[in-house]
Amino acid sequence: MLKQAKVAILGLGAIGSPLAIYLASAGVGYIRLIDRDLVELSNIQRQILYEEKDTVEWKPKATAAKEKLERVNSDIVPEARFEDFNPATAEELVADVDLVLDGTDNLEARFLLNEVCVKNNIPFIYGAAIEDYGAVSFIVPGETPCLRCIIPELPEPGSLPTCETAGVLGPAPGVVGMIEAAEAIKYFVGFGELLRSKLLYFDLSSLSFEIIDVHRNPNCPTCVREEFPLLNREIKQSTISTLCGRNAVQISPKADLGLNLQALGENLRKNPEFEVKKLTGDLLVVEHGGLSIAITPSGRAIVRNTNSEKRAKSVLSRIISC
Ligand SMILES: [Zn+2]
Repeated sequence: MLKQAKVAILGLGAIGSPLAIYLASAGVGYIRLIDRDLVELSNIQRQILYEEKDTVEWKPKATAAKEKLERVNSDIVPEARFEDFNPATAEELVADVDLVLDGTDNLEARFLLNEVCVKNNIPFIYGAAIEDYGAVSFIVPGETPCLRCIIPELPEPGSLPTCETAGVLGPAPGVVGMIEAAEAIKYFVGFGELLRSKLLYFDLSSLSFEIIDVHRNPNCPTCVREEFPLLNREIKQSTISTLCGRNAVQISPKADLGLNLQALGENLRKNPEFEVKKLTGDLLVVEHGGLSIAITPSGRAIVRNTNSEKRAKSVLSRIISC
């Protein structure tokens, strides 16, 4: 049964790491590994999919995770997707799987995941951790409360603690990932009780675990009224976001730019202001003025060593117009 199971793990950080390893070890046949970021040294402290050597090779987390899972279990098929989860990519990234597992690090991505799973009738397991706390719930569209029934509104930006403002105790997201893995295995094998219409909440500082009953909102905009504003949001311009807990900025173009990275990299090599650190068909990494810039063929870029969106955008425009 596990061999036939197809899952997607969205986010390969501290929750996604143990989750991926347990599902691969258990023999879940197909695991789609989705993450937009590269491995860096500060990840190693709690993101147990990765090793130091991955950080010096400028490796996408999705690629490093795939290689790790292939070493763990050669009978399974891991697929790496080094992509941003946004309204343009969301439906394709979770298409054709039986279950989606939440390893994201922010509520906005989870609300988008909720919309895409409700719209396409895909069960998913919500999981989140902050400081010493964690929460998990098993969401089956049309049957259990959806995430929007449990958390009615997206809080104002900056009003909630994030891993950037509050930090996180390394094992707390690990516990969330392991509980998600246990739920997934029980679901596919068909035993035990699942966290359907229930929210597990734990606090590692006091070691309390409690399960709360949650209920469908009869007027839920997502699972009752079937409104999907995040998913239907039109992308009119490139989006810029700072990455949680990181000194880095991501810039996503409004549409796929279809860059020829090889040609771009060769061109940059002629300019002494830029140092090309890595050049493959799907990733170009360049250093310039203390910043390192990783660019994918779609034109999506991660600019490290800055939190300034303006600075990141200015350096990227120099590279892409080069
Ligand atoms: Zn709902």
